[in-house]
Amino acid sequence: MNSAVFTARSLTKTYVSGETEVHALRGVDLEITPGEVVVLLGPSGSGKSTLLNIMGGLDQATSGQLFFRGEELTHLDDRGLTTYRRQHVGFVFQFYNLMPSLTAYENVSLVTEISDDPMRPDEALALVGLEERINHFPSQLSGGEQQRVAIARAIAKRPDVLLCDEPTGALDSKTGIRVIDALLSINAQFGTTTLIITHNAIIQDVADRVLFFTDGQISNIRKNEGRRAAAELNW
Ligand code: ADP
Repeated sequence: MNSAVFTARSLTKTYVSGETEVHALRGVDLEITPGEVVVLLGPSGSGKSTLLNIMGGLDQATSGQLFFRGEELTHLDDRGLTTYRRQHVGFVFQFYNLMPSLTAYENVSLVTEISDDPMRPDEALALVGLEERINHFPSQLSGGEQQRVAIARAIAKRPDVLLCDEPTGALDSKTGIRVIDALLSINAQFGTTTLIITHNAIIQDVADRVLFFTDGQISNIRKNEGRRAAAELNW
């Protein structure tokens, strides 16, 4: 039996607007193993976000197949994808998308209130080192702290996979390290399969595997012999 978390077979995505077709994915084959940390690298427009969005059930592929633990996501309708996202996927984006009028605790509660077996919000915030900040509003937190609230929100429902699109894109290197460190610590504690898109090639050293994207395809895959800790990265 195939134990992969994700299996993609000849996955394509074509965006059509008017007369123009954009081939964002041109046939992606891939397997992701449980607990892996995978970094996606490649030039802007090479299809990384498109793949992550399809894996996260935010977008539909045009052709090909995508399986999550043997279940074919590419067969699900919008409702099925919403259930899949709710039960299995945490997202972290470049911009934190926190509610400005809610505290860190309340921002995380928004998710825990609608999840089946969530952590307590203070527990999730402690996991990212923000136990002292739970009653702060986003405007009272630094960018890195806000991103860690967003990570706490993403992991509070105990997702199987954490999909991160440029999580350090808006941060300086020092805070970026803390954010990557938080992601790695969640992975180590819970075995959360973690995919990270980044423009910062230095981050690739924390991964088990690095996927290089070129023009809608995976042009190379590199397996790292040993992962490096975030603090060891030379930013
Ligand atoms: P990356 O994440 O590597 O920067 P993307 O997956 O965002 O690349 O984009 C791949 C290609 O698909 C780009 O040419 C982009 O302009 C195009 N694209 C992405 N989303 C859309 C969309 N919603 N509509 C039309 N084209 C899109």
